[in-house]
Amino acid sequence: MRVLVVEDDEGIATGLEAHLRQLGWAVDITDSVDTAWTALRVEPFDLVLLDLGLRGGDGAEVLRRLRQVPPARLPDAATPVLVMTARDQVAARIECLDMGADDYVTKPFDPDELSARMRALRRRSLGRAQPLITAGALEVDPANRTVLQDGQPVELSAREFGVLLALIEVRPRVLSRPQIEAQLYSWDNALDSNAVEVHVHHLRKKLGEAVIRTLRGVGYFVPEDKP
Ligand code: CA
Repeated sequence: MRVLVVEDDEGIATGLEAHLRQLGWAVDITDSVDTAWTALRVEPFDLVLLDLGLRGGDGAEVLRRLRQVPPARLPDAATPVLVMTARDQVAARIECLDMGADDYVTKPFDPDELSARMRALRRRSLGRAQPLITAGALEVDPANRTVLQDGQPVELSAREFGVLLALIEVRPRVLSRPQIEAQLYSWDNALDSNAVEVHVHHLRKKLGEAVIRTLRGVGYFVPEDKP
């Protein structure tokens, strides 16, 4: 999952970044309405964490612009938005929810509660209610970042898990290499050009060749279960 954090408090932003990256998510930070809007117009994000009290303006402006654009014209127009507000900002929270925000937390918040809410939003945005994702003999747990195959735990690196989760969440849709990379790496992460291929290679060694298929020239996908 790729997350855009819009937060002008450097301490909070840095703490959030560390917490979310450690969960295997790609995190990008912006600190103003304009930089957030620029990011959303050019990059695909799966979720936006939005602080309302930005120095350069009202964070709700990002939400307003995002939800006004017809979805076909902006890849992120339907991206879930989780608003971060001060405890006493009840009116602002109501306004944001009615403007198209999907959830909120009040500061100071517990980071684990925040990430659980983010997983819930991700499930909903993918049309899924169950916390575990099953595919054939695989059972993937996004919260605990564990994988069982035929009931047996499989050891995966953080990146391997990220690639598998990205593909299995949207199966049987095909994801291109750049689409997978976008879910694993943010702007400032160095990236080997063949990193995704290497992770897929390792995943196939650990889980079997048939788990991840290649659509030549397009990308990778996890096939649907055979009836
Ligand atoms: Ca702020």
